[in-house]
Amino acid sequence: MTSQTTHTFDREYDTIVIGAGMSGLGAGIRLAMFDKKVLILEKHSISGGLNSYYTRFKRPFDVGLHAMTNFSPRGERKSPLGKLLKQLRIKHEQLNLSEQKHSTIVFPDTKLSFTNEFSILIEEIAQKFPHEIDGFLKLVDEIKNFNEVSLKNEYQAAKSVVSTYLKSETLIEMIFCPLLIYGSAWEDDMDFSQFVIMFKSIYLEGFCRPEGGVRTLLNLLLETYEQRGGELEFKHGVEKILYDGKKVIGVQTTKGEKIKANKVLSSMGAPETYARIDEQEKKTSAQTGRMTFTETIFITDKKPSDFGFHETIYFYNNRNKYLYRNPQTYYDDQSAVICFPNNFQDDDNPEGIIRVTFMADYTHWKKLLSEDRKAYREKKKEMGETAYDVVKKLLPNSWDAKIECIDTFTPTTIERYTGHFGGTVYGSPDKSRDGTTPYQNLYLCGTDQGFLGIVGSLLSGISMANLHVLSQ
Ligand SMILES: Cc1cc2nc3c(=O)[nH]c(=O)nc-3n(C[C@H](O)[C@H](O)[C@H](O)COP(=O)(O)OP(=O)(O)OC[C@H]3O[C@@H](n4cnc5c(N)ncnc54)[C@H](O)[C@@H]3O)c2cc1C
Repeated sequence: MTSQTTHTFDREYDTIVIGAGMSGLGAGIRLAMFDKKVLILEKHSISGGLNSYYTRFKRPFDVGLHAMTNFSPRGERKSPLGKLLKQLRIKHEQLNLSEQKHSTIVFPDTKLSFTNEFSILIEEIAQKFPHEIDGFLKLVDEIKNFNEVSLKNEYQAAKSVVSTYLKSETLIEMIFCPLLIYGSAWEDDMDFSQFVIMFKSIYLEGFCRPEGGVRTLLNLLLETYEQRGGELEFKHGVEKILYDGKKVIGVQTTKGEKIKANKVLSSMGAPETYARIDEQEKKTSAQTGRMTFTETIFITDKKPSDFGFHETIYFYNNRNKYLYRNPQTYYDDQSAVICFPNNFQDDDNPEGIIRVTFMADYTHWKKLLSEDRKAYREKKKEMGETAYDVVKKLLPNSWDAKIECIDTFTPTTIERYTGHFGGTVYGSPDKSRDGTTPYQNLYLCGTDQGFLGIVGSLLSGISMANLHVLSQ
C-alpha cells in the first residue's frame, strides 16, 4: 500500500540530516562545504548525542568521552584521523590532543599493557604468551593488509578468524576485551571488518584526548558547520519521515512543520529511523541492540597520579572468560572499563576524575524507573559503591582521596537524551555498510551504518554524505 497524502511543505532543503551527534555534524559539514542547502534537525538542546556533555555540581562532565581512538601525530595525512581532519578542514593543532600514558587489560592471572607505541604490546605478548608471538605477528600482518572499510566485505565472525592464528583462549579474550567494549553491537564476538577497525584504532594508533574534552571537538565542528553556511535547529526533532510510495520526500517535525528535502540522512539509528515511517509503508525492520552501559563518575580531591598511579584506561575482567553480553541484570560488576582522564600526558582537569563503565541491561533499569523512582536512585547509589570498590582494588593502597561528588547514568538516561531504543550504545546488530535503506533517498550514517566511536562516526557521516549526496 502506498501513501496517497499530498503534502504542503513549509520550506525546502537539498538534504536534511537527522541528529547533531558526531556523524550528523560530519555529514552536515561536508554538505555545507559543497554549497548544499542543508539542515540538521536535533531533538536535544545541545549537540553530541552519545558523546555530549552536561553540567552538574557546577562542574563540566563529558558523557561519552573516555578517550578518542585513532591517535595519529600532526602531519600524518593518510591515517583515519588525518583524513577526517582534512575532509572537515580542521587543523590537528586545534584539538590539542594529549596522548594516553598507558592502558592495561587486567584478567585474573595476567595483565597486558599497551601504549600508543605498538611495540610495547608486542613485547608484552612475547613475554607473557611466548608460544603465541609468531601467530600474533602473522595476525597483525593480516590486519595491516586487510581493507576493513570496503563496503563489499562480507560479515564474518572475528573470533573464528583470530583463532586460526592464536591458540591461547586467554590471549584471544584479552585482545578482544577492549575492542568489544569500545565498539561491538554483537554480543561475545564481532564482525571481522569491525575487529580490524577497532584493532587498528586502539592498538596500532591508540588513545588521546582533546584538551577541554569533548566540548573542544564539538565547538570546532559547530563553528565549521556554521561558517560553511549550514543550518542547525535544536529542540526540533523528526517525528515522521515522509515517503510518497516511491521515494522519501522530506520530514515532519515535532513542531508540526513539514520540510521538503531531496535526501534525508539519518544518524538516529536503524530501528529508530524505520519507526518514523508510516506503518503501511513498512518495508524493513532492524533489531534493537542489547549492548548498553551504566557509568559512574567520581570527582575526587586528589588525582591518581598523586599516588604514583598512571594508568589511563583499565579494562578489568574478573573471570577467565570475558563475557561481553547483556548481563540480564542491572549491571555486571565482574568486568568494567575504568578511565582515569587525569592520566593523559597533559592533564587540564583541576580535580581527580574516575569513570567506571559497567555492561548493563536496559529492561531492568527501565522497569525500576517506571515503578519506583526512589528504588531506582538507591540502585544507582548501590552501583556507585560497587564501582568504587572495584576502583579501590586497582589503585595503590595509599589512595585516600575524598570523593567530592558522584554522578551516575544508566541505559534509561542514554535513551532519554539520545532517543536510542533500549539505551543502546553501539546500535543495532543489523548494520547497513553502504548506508542504503529500502527507501529511495533515505540513508543511514553513524552507528547503524557501522562506524562507531568519535572518529568512526565522524568518518561515517563524511563518507555517507560523499557517497550518497556529493557524488550523485
Ligand atoms: C558511556 C559512553 C562512553 C563512550 N566512550 C567513548 C570513547 O571513549 N571514545 C569513543 O570514540 N566513543 C565513545 N563512545 C561512543 C560514541 O559516543 C558513539 O559511537 C558516537 O558518538 C556515535 O555517534 P553517532 O553520530 O553515530 O550517533 P549519536 O551520537 O547517537 O547521534 C544521534 C543524534 O540524533 C539525535 N536524534 C535522535 N532521534 C532524533 C529525532 N527523532 N530527531 C532529531 N534528532 C534525533 C540524538 O539526540 C543524537 O544527537 C561512548 C559512548 C557512551 C554512551
